[in-house]
Amino acid sequence: MTDRPTQLKLAPETRAAQALHYIHPMHGAVVPGIEPASTFARDADYAPMGDAVYARDGGPTTQHAEAVLADMEGAAAAMAFTSGMSAVVCLLETLEAGDHVVCPVVGYHGTIGWLHRMAEKRGVKATFYDATEPGALEAAVTPGTKLAWIETPTNPNWDVTDIAHAAEVAHAAGALLAVDCTVAPPCTTKALELGADIVFHSATKYLNGHSDITAGVLAVTETGALWDEMRMIRTLQGTALAAFEAWLLIRGMRTLHLRFERASESALAIARHFEGHPGVEAVLYPGLESHPGHEIARRQMTGGFGGMLSLLARDEAAARTIATSTQVFLPATSLGGVESLIEHRIAVEGPHSVVAPNLLRLSVGIEAVSDLIADLEQAIERAS
Ligand SMILES: *Cc1c(COP(=O)(O)O)cnc(C)c1O
Repeated sequence: MTDRPTQLKLAPETRAAQALHYIHPMHGAVVPGIEPASTFARDADYAPMGDAVYARDGGPTTQHAEAVLADMEGAAAAMAFTSGMSAVVCLLETLEAGDHVVCPVVGYHGTIGWLHRMAEKRGVKATFYDATEPGALEAAVTPGTKLAWIETPTNPNWDVTDIAHAAEVAHAAGALLAVDCTVAPPCTTKALELGADIVFHSATKYLNGHSDITAGVLAVTETGALWDEMRMIRTLQGTALAAFEAWLLIRGMRTLHLRFERASESALAIARHFEGHPGVEAVLYPGLESHPGHEIARRQMTGGFGGMLSLLARDEAAARTIATSTQVFLPATSLGGVESLIEHRIAVEGPHSVVAPNLLRLSVGIEAVSDLIADLEQAIERAS
């Protein structure tokens, strides 16, 4: 982003904190501005003056956010979208009738719902596999499978899938591996370096981190025909992230490492505190040794286990009481923000949900962990 040379090999958090060593080339501002223009003038030779022509394809602020994202992921390129789901839809839109896709049974309901729609309306063949069952992914992927979609850790049970292994399985069948790494952002897991071809994030969550935009990301190891098709789809659907949201995303990403570290530390403390607690049946958190995915998580979540965990209350009524009794945790959906959230998940997903009725999903923010523990204690007390 500047001409100033550097010989130092910088850590990812250094590059992220400075939004890629940003200095405005004319007046020296150390924070990027917002470029809201929808159209961009040409020079005397009628050539575009910069990389942008028309904002539906993404303007300079969006391109800056994408440069930071690509750098964080170690990606050849990244695209920012108006939401996580618009990024998912863009990727799935490249599938044709007869193409085979595999996807976990338990995972983000929007993605699963859209795949069902693609199967019903477009003749895409979808196989849903149980990510908790060893060998289930291998059994679901067949020679000729086009796309293997995995999510790790899986919302809302936080089951962990081994990305490097999934990449081997997918590639052996000639499939591309796409990973929903929303819950494990690049400060802890670099899916592309582990062998994935495409990494997806709902940037609404950790990447932005302040619950004030919706955004999505696709990043890839190599650009080519698929990338060009996805760019074309994004341009024609008009789902490129707009300038103001891109600016907020850049601002959020500058503190990603710090926020994630704090959330991980607090979530682990909460998980340990409530594991074995008389008012709680179980704590689901990949950072606990008791979690079935702990060993894989230790290898592939190198920057912390994150701020997402679930508590199983004694029963559904207790879960409902706890979710409506917290004074610090805010009763809202979403995750990855600086404020802690609690959610009675089945009530949000609706009647088709396969989530346990007594499951409470927690998104741990950056508040004092003592306040968070005290809050859950008083809410659990009320339910017993
Ligand atoms: C939120 C979320 C999505 C969808 O992203 P939006 O930004 O809400 O469109 C996809 N996957 C996971 C794991 C999510 O948490």
